[in-house]
Amino acid sequence: MSHIVTCENLVVTYRASNGPVRALDGVDLTISEGETLAIVGESGSGKSTLGMAMGRLLPAEAEREDGRMDVAGQPVFDIAANDLRELRRDLLGFVFQNPMVALDPTMRIGRQMQRAMGRRAGSEEIHALLERAELDDPARVAKSFPHQLSGGMAQRVVIAMASARTPRLLIADEPTASLDASIRDKVMGTLCRLRAESGASLVILSHDVHMIARHADRVAVMYGGRIVEQGPTGRVLDAPVHPYTRALLKAAAGHEKPGDWLTPIPGTPPLLSARCAACSFEPRCTVSEENCHTTRPEPREVEGREVLCLLAGTQTEPKEAAR
Ligand code: ATP
Ligand code: MG
Repeated sequence: MSHIVTCENLVVTYRASNGPVRALDGVDLTISEGETLAIVGESGSGKSTLGMAMGRLLPAEAEREDGRMDVAGQPVFDIAANDLRELRRDLLGFVFQNPMVALDPTMRIGRQMQRAMGRRAGSEEIHALLERAELDDPARVAKSFPHQLSGGMAQRVVIAMASARTPRLLIADEPTASLDASIRDKVMGTLCRLRAESGASLVILSHDVHMIARHADRVAVMYGGRIVEQGPTGRVLDAPVHPYTRALLKAAAGHEKPGDWLTPIPGTPPLLSARCAACSFEPRCTVSEENCHTTRPEPREVEGREVLCLLAGTQTEPKEAAR
């Protein structure tokens, strides 16, 4: 199967007033055509940085220090500005947490849809696209200004706009986090349906493990700017191997309401100031050993997924990561 995204040893650093923040510390990742990949991890683990890097939509203070990111065969950090614009316009679709950020408050939805479609789309075409995003009264929605829509309706409009040019890769950063819990799953269902109809790939960046279990083919778990475990959703969520994934799932257990994720994992996330020379989870790991403290783990295939843990698959395999 061909890959829409190939990311190799990607290192991205933010220049911050109190020193550099190494938000991505060597990320290796591939995404197949038509695949839905969920990227999960605590706040600050680097999910948004990785997602935005796919469209090179990083702020000016961010710098790619090493590695590469190829999207649809094009090295996004090394292509000309024109090619990058075309790539973003024709091949990528973005859905962010807050739909109001993506919508122009002064323009009726119909006009904005027309712009998103990139040509003189007739109202019938616009209504059809809004209807596909499961907006009940597309004619009324098209005539509305963004503030006249509910959050759920506005996010459906954004999903319709992101799908308008049949992109090959949709990137959704916490797409349902700003919505009422009661409609999160439905809006996510719409996004996944539109993805399936177009055959695009979808990357969901989210805290919400429960949602991911329902929608993603594959899961990548991020910690401290690295992907510590990635593999098929069932494998990773039903039989996690990395102690961090185990702790994460434990923390999420019992919070059945999607979006709830209240039990913290003990300890604090790592400071991301330099290349981590050891296992970045070691200070919080309940099963770590001497060499975890001194050796940087590299990705290894263990039980049908890729893991960054020195102990995984060894005789002293991590058995239990306590809360
Ligand atoms: P969240 O779940 O809170 O959205 P995230 O996993 O998306 O978190 P990122 O937003 O990618 O994480 O941030 C990764 C790291 O980079 C964090 O330590 C964050 O503080 C830092 N960071 C992000 N943006 C900037 C910036 N513009 N300047 C400095 N540091 C930044
Ligand atoms: Mg984020």
